[in-house]
Formats: sequence, structure tokens, C-alpha cells
Amino acid sequence: MLLLIPGPVTTRPEVRQAMAQDIAPWDNDFRPRYAAMRARVLGIANAPAETHDAICFGGCGHFGIEAAIRSFLPAGGRILIPQVGAYAERMARLANEAGRIAVPLAMDPDAPVSPQAVAAALAADPEITHVGLVYNETGTGVVHDPASIGDVVRAAGRRVILDAVSAFGALPLDISAHPEIDAAVFTSNKCLEGLPGLVFAICRKDRLEGTAGNAGSWSFDLADILAGYARGPGVIRFTPPAQVMLAFMTALDLFDAEGGQPARLARYRANTAALYTGMQGIGMVPYLPFAVQGPIVMNIHAPTDPAWSLQGFVDALKRRGYLISNFYNTPQPSFRVGCIGALTPEDMRGFVQATDAALVELGVHHRLPGQTAA
Ligand SMILES: *Cc1c(COP(=O)(O)O)cnc(C)c1O
Repeated sequence: MLLLIPGPVTTRPEVRQAMAQDIAPWDNDFRPRYAAMRARVLGIANAPAETHDAICFGGCGHFGIEAAIRSFLPAGGRILIPQVGAYAERMARLANEAGRIAVPLAMDPDAPVSPQAVAAALAADPEITHVGLVYNETGTGVVHDPASIGDVVRAAGRRVILDAVSAFGALPLDISAHPEIDAAVFTSNKCLEGLPGLVFAICRKDRLEGTAGNAGSWSFDLADILAGYARGPGVIRFTPPAQVMLAFMTALDLFDAEGGQPARLARYRANTAALYTGMQGIGMVPYLPFAVQGPIVMNIHAPTDPAWSLQGFVDALKRRGYLISNFYNTPQPSFRVGCIGALTPEDMRGFVQATDAALVELGVHHRLPGQTAA
């Protein structure tokens, strides 16, 4: 079965096999490996080890974003969140439920966030300390630019919390050039092609010093985790998914062997192009113009044919060896296909053929959106 979803992704067999052993994460043999794994992740972000750490704990992406919001914003603090889609809404909910105030910035979700709009919103509200930005909005498939937005945030003397969950490892991130980034959050199971269970926040250490307790949650206190690292390399507070870490180390080896971030981005772009043209070739309509279609996830308009049912389609694809999401995050009905993970353009072409066959099986004759069956 191939997973064509934007996480958890299809992994290589070597990655899954690396898990098959019993280990104790606080064993002295394991600690240096844990510290080395974090250093490798810092390298991918070009984050200097003198100023930054890759703070890591067991959990999902939402946990990391909540931890970053809690750790860097005071209770009652204000965070501006451009409303670019479902994951930006989730960030706002995480902030509000943590007792911070999400200030929404209305946007056209199908276009990259305008740095000028962010600058204007910051100028209008001096109490906003942070901007919460989703790098690749997984709901729409649009990539937003943390570099140009970061420049205006830095000029305004404010900070960035970056949701890089579905971007990191494929889309470039140069933390050394962006000191306004307090935290860049990502997980083991998206573009780095590991298994789910680990979350990372690459953080500026100076910004966390002396803030332990600010989070109002011991579990999600990044300053407390960082203080643990200062007590010794590889000190881990609570039981982490150690086998997931082993799998992740193997995934990093494969990432390096492939050629790192540029090579991964090139493969995902090739996957996206194969899927986009393939879908058009069988009469389906991608949601976005190709110019704004990012390389991570693609939404495709659902046909309006009465024979269409998303779950029926998902089941028919599954019988053919492909799993896609059985939900969508777009205003118009769609289905979404992940272009990330251990997949090639050849896999995408196979998926297009399976889509064609599944639609025939369902009796969907009219594949265009907004068109009713004769
Ligand atoms: C997947 C994803 C998340 C959340 O990840 P979970 O591991 O499911 O909690 C957050 N933001 C973006 C942009 C994502 O794609």
C-alpha cells in the first residue's frame, strides 16, 4: 500500500526495519546518538549550534506548535496569524486554548501571504509580539514565504513561530539568516520520511533562557527541555519513542544519500508535476493554477457526477494499493493527494491510472466540477 497523504508518509523498508529492537533511551550508549540526531537536524536548517537547539520530544506536530506558543508567548500574549487555511486555523485554536490571543489576519488563502499586509497589521497593533506562519499550508497546498515575511517581522521588532511541519526537509529554511524565528516546528513523519512520533522545535536558546514555567505546562515547556540538555548531552526528561528515533536516524541517512533538501524538493516537484499533468490528462481539474501549486500536497476538484462519493473513491483506490485522505480542507469539495514520502513520479503515474479505473468502477462519467450528469 502506498500512502499518498501529506503525513504520515510512505517510508522506505530500511526505515521501518530500524525500529525492530529493544533499547533504553537514557542508556549511556544511546544519549550521544540522540544528541547527534538533534545536531543533524540543526544542520538541515543551517542553524548554528552555538545559538540554537533542536528541541525534541515525543508527540505530533500540534504538540510542538502548542509548546512553541506556550513557551515563547506570555499568558495573554498576542500572536498574529495570517488565515491561509486549515492549519493556520488550528494554530489559532492552539493559541486561544492555551490562553494566548490569536489575532487573525484575513487573506486570500489561494495566494502567498503578502509581507506588506503583515507589516501593516503589526504596525496597527503594537501589542502583537509574534507572527504565527504556516510555511506550507497543507489544507490548500500553497507555500508561503517565511523569508520575505520574516524580513518585515524582524524590521518591526517582532518574532516568528513557524509551522514548518509539512515543509521541513523539502522547502529551504536558513535559520541563520532569520534570527526573528523563535521556533520552527516539524515532525519526523513528513518530508524527512521517518515514522510518526517525534516532534522538533528548532529554537533560539537565548530566547528561552530563564523562561522555564512560562509555558504553564510542564509537558510542553521547551525551556525545561532545554535546561535538561544543559545538564548533559542527550538528557531526556520523559520516555520518548526511542524506536521512532532509530528509524528517524536511518531516514536522515537516506536523506543525506539522496542529496539533502535540494534533491528532496526536486523529487517532490517532479511528483507534483507528474500528478498535475496526469490528472488533467484524465479530465480532472486540479484546485490551484500550477503557478501557485506547491510541491507537497495537491487538491483536485471532486466531480459533481451523482455517482461520486469521496469514501467510495477512497475505498476503490485502496483496493488498487493507494491510500488517500477521506476528508478535504477546501471550500469546494475536493480530494487531496500527498506528493511527499518515499514516492517517485512513476508512483504518481500509477496513481493516476488507478484514479481513472476507480472512477470508471464508481460510474463517474462527468469528471469536471460544476457540471451535472446528463
Ligand atoms: C501535519 C501538519 C500539522 C500537524 O501535525 P500532526 O502531527 O498531525 O499533529 C501541523 N501543521 C501542518 C502544516 C501540517 O501539515
